[in-house]
Amino acid sequence: MTDKIMNLPPVSEMMRNSGLEPKKQFGQNFLFDLNLTLKIAKSVPDIENTDVVEVGPGPGGLTRAILMAGAKKLVAIEKDKTTEPILSQIMDASDGRLNVIFGDALKTDLSDMNKSGYAICANLPYNVGTELLIGWLHQIADGANIKSLTCMFQKEVAERITADVGDKQYGRLAVLANLIADTKILFDVPNTAFVPRPKVQSAVVQIIPNKNKIKQITNIANLEKLTAKLFGQRRKMIRGIIKTDWEKFGLTGMERAEEISPELFLKISRNIDINLL
Ligand code: SAM
Repeated sequence: MTDKIMNLPPVSEMMRNSGLEPKKQFGQNFLFDLNLTLKIAKSVPDIENTDVVEVGPGPGGLTRAILMAGAKKLVAIEKDKTTEPILSQIMDASDGRLNVIFGDALKTDLSDMNKSGYAICANLPYNVGTELLIGWLHQIADGANIKSLTCMFQKEVAERITADVGDKQYGRLAVLANLIADTKILFDVPNTAFVPRPKVQSAVVQIIPNKNKIKQITNIANLEKLTAKLFGQRRKMIRGIIKTDWEKFGLTGMERAEEISPELFLKISRNIDINLL
């Protein structure tokens, strides 16, 4: 089933033939190494029985790997229309498994994929990676049937997603991600793997939504307001930011946001209404 994909010319050759050049404004840093793209695609849990969404297929290096790894169906969302000549060749070789949507992933409604559920696998554009992730986490909390996310992020963002309380990178993103899912860095990817080569290093992160955690979240807006307020002044003691009875949460009020665990943030957000403070 994947023979036709394997017989396509290498990604670099397809780019040369179609005159496609990487564009900075779309955050384009491409992967050409099939060993690496296959390693990412094969990290998607149960990929052979799963529909996959890829954000930003670009010239299709990872797209081909996801198809070769056996994804049941792949929906790829790409903002840069000039990739069309290459992506349509991959579509033709995909035996109907690949569907490309040209548009902005930040505005694409995927709710019709909720019935069977889907995995997200992407080498994300750095300029919108965090925004996309926060959007997906909110959708998951609202019931979207996203089974897993296996995505490349800038290393610094990967560390902010997976940070534990007390870590230097611990902040709003870690609290939100860890209250909704189980997260881990799968492996680092050096900047030499990308064309063009970015200044920063990268890492592939796996995020698996956790139903037991999600059902504890009753008011995500209040939780987000709380973390924004406390991490907004992260060097300040919490009693100097919010006046409340901190002792009922087992705190003195002299702690800083970075010392409060995700579970404790959740508990506080369930008991105080930030709008009333
Ligand atoms: N998947 C390809 C690879 O690994 O070689 C390309 C990855 S590149 C880091 C990011 C891709 O996302 C680019 O193709 C870019 O055009 C696309 N992109 C950027 N912003 C986007 C958005 N808002 N919606 C959809 N695609 C976007």
